[in-house]
Amino acid sequence: MKYLFKGLLLLMLSSIVSSCAVIGINAKRKTPHKPGEYPAFTLKDTLWGKLTPLRSAYDVSFYKLNIGVDVENRSLNGFVDIVFLAEEIIDTLQIDLYENLKINKIIFQDRELQFFRKYKAVFIVLGRKIHPGEKHTITVHYEGQPVIATKPPWEGGFVWKKDKDKKPWIGVACELAGASLWWPLKDHISDEPDSVQLTVSTPQGLFCVSNGILSDHISEDNREIFTWKTRYPINTYNVTLYIGNYRHFQLPYLKDDTVYQLDFYVLPYNLEKAQTHFQQVIDIIRFYESAFGEYPWWDEGYKLVESPYEGMEHQTAIAYGNRYKNRFGSSFDYIILHETAHEWWGNSVSAGDYAEIWLHEGFATYSEALYVEHTEGHKAYLD
Ligand SMILES: [Zn+2]
Repeated sequence: MKYLFKGLLLLMLSSIVSSCAVIGINAKRKTPHKPGEYPAFTLKDTLWGKLTPLRSAYDVSFYKLNIGVDVENRSLNGFVDIVFLAEEIIDTLQIDLYENLKINKIIFQDRELQFFRKYKAVFIVLGRKIHPGEKHTITVHYEGQPVIATKPPWEGGFVWKKDKDKKPWIGVACELAGASLWWPLKDHISDEPDSVQLTVSTPQGLFCVSNGILSDHISEDNREIFTWKTRYPINTYNVTLYIGNYRHFQLPYLKDDTVYQLDFYVLPYNLEKAQTHFQQVIDIIRFYESAFGEYPWWDEGYKLVESPYEGMEHQTAIAYGNRYKNRFGSSFDYIILHETAHEWWGNSVSAGDYAEIWLHEGFATYSEALYVEHTEGHKAYLD
């Protein structure tokens, strides 16, 4: 049994190494052979990774983001409402925002609050005691140029690209880097908000896609303003935006006499290719539903969005950047198969700490193997 367990563990580890964002860690920091060889934690790591009392004392229920995107300057300017419930007596709390982004002011009950910063941590002095059970909102106004991704999605940040028609094509991926690289929040994986609203203002003529449902779109003063809402709990690294010259189409997914429309946002010159290539999504979702239970987010649908980087499991708005290629010798596209599995494993069932992030990658990788068995047989599964 011991050997079987070791074998399974090795299998799980090898699957982690071969998938998604975890590759980045291994490429950068080789896993040491002895415990003493692990890099020492710095105060910066601890402030970000540890669930200190200044973070565990409150539970975020809702984030409302309102962000203007300046494409020319590659910068953001906006504010975020953080709605939270006090779980203990609090007079100071910690949120997080990358040091290169400037906080203009923090407002609580019509007063501007004092705050001080240490690395990514922002300590906010509330100026009064809040008691358990009280629900409040603080608003953080901020601006700046977010980190540019060096190797998205493995090394996260913003991606400012142009498509083949020279139109702006923008995205952000931050699973390991943390959402605080582009907006202020409690950046700890243990605290998923119950819902998120994201309003984005872009230059005219571009379209913005985000998580959940598009609830509003207006054109005003040469700008396009989009509001997207998700009413499902969501890992904050899954909150995202895509800006581009997108074309939208749908494919029907029939289940028990109900027709769900799957949504796809692609660049204009790939529309025809995408309409054929994305047909496989129907079979993939059908298989995962039979293996793991209902797709977790039917109220807000399933979206694939063509992204200026390879892929990422952004909840209800998966990033797709695999150039419409199936895996060599197979009938499926690896990125679609892997990232769609994350809607069950990682997005619906989520780790409470980054130390357990293998749960996301391990089960997504196992899901791929099950699908291969389903389509290509047991030998292919073993291979
Ligand atoms: Zn993954």
